[in-house]
Formats: sequence, structure tokens, C-alpha cells
Amino acid sequence: MTSEEVKRLFDTHGACLQGHFLLSSGYHSDTYLQTALLLQHPPVAQQVGSALASAFPEPVDVIVAPALGGVVIGFAVAQAKGCRSVFAEREAGKMALRRGFAVHSGERALVVEDVVTTGGSTREVVALVQANQAKVVGVGVVVDRSTSELRFSVPFVSLWRWPLQTTPPERCEGCRRGLPLMKPGSRG
Ligand SMILES: [Zn+2]
Repeated sequence: MTSEEVKRLFDTHGACLQGHFLLSSGYHSDTYLQTALLLQHPPVAQQVGSALASAFPEPVDVIVAPALGGVVIGFAVAQAKGCRSVFAEREAGKMALRRGFAVHSGERALVVEDVVTTGGSTREVVALVQANQAKVVGVGVVVDRSTSELRFSVPFVSLWRWPLQTTPPERCEGCRRGLPLMKPGSRG
């Protein structure tokens, strides 16, 4: 699946939002990718999941995804790989496996996320898996929105690289034009 095909899927499903958005960094942006709108369609989730799965041809025992953004795409990748799918979520501020989920010593894990910007949560999940003596075979994401090249300690694949364009409020065109500011979910 090419970057252009991924971009087209976001456009087709109205998941590439245009407007005036407040990001968690405090900066503003005129676009926002709402992956949930794309992945709400099971055949699309399956298509994107298969594309991500095929980027990691080696056998995988378990997909580990940061909640909430990674949950659906993680499941879709697991379906294509024929392996388990678990997710990590914040407990007292730290990523943890809850609900009885476990990653066992010696297992081969793939960390899957929908969108990465700084890669902070993703790195935390890689460390969590490694702390369980499992091997992380890679990090796979649908969209890489980082502004400078992300580095992980394991192989990293994104289906689409689209660096996030942000502006401080004082230089924002949307603010200048008085457009209402939206704070999109899920990631605060
Ligand atoms: Zn603004």
C-alpha cells in the first residue's frame, strides 16, 4: 500500500479534517487526522492492518498497542498475522498491561499505533514489552506525523509520512480569521 493510497483512504472516509485545531502542545494546526473515522469501517481496517502486517514478514506472537489510538489497528494487524492482540493503557501515569493481558518471556511482539508524533507513548510500550523479556520485532504505525525523523531501538515502519504543520497561536492564520478553535480527541 503506497502513501498516496493511504492518504486517499483518509480523504475518502472524511478522516482528514480541515479546520482550526488546538493540539496538546498548545500549538494550532489547520488539519487533523481522525483515524477512528477511517477504522470504523471493518473492511478498511482490515486492508490497512494487512498492509502493516506485511511490512513485518517475520512471525509475531502478539501485537501490543497503546490505548486508545492503537486498539483497532492493533487488532486488525493481529488478525492478518494470526496472533494475539493486547493493548497497554495508562495506570497512575505509566503505560501498563491491565485486564489480565500479558506478554510472556521470549515472545515476539510487534508494537502497533495509529498515529505517532513524538513517539513518546510508543517508546514507553516498547520498553514495557522488553521489561517482560519479550522481543520487540518492530514498531508499525499508520501515519508518522513527526516533524523530525523518529528513532526507535527497533525497526520502524509507517504507511504514510506526513509531518504535522503547527503554528503558535500568535502567528496562526485560523486565529487571525477568527475561526472557532477545536480540540480534537482522543489523545487530549
Ligand atoms: Zn489558531
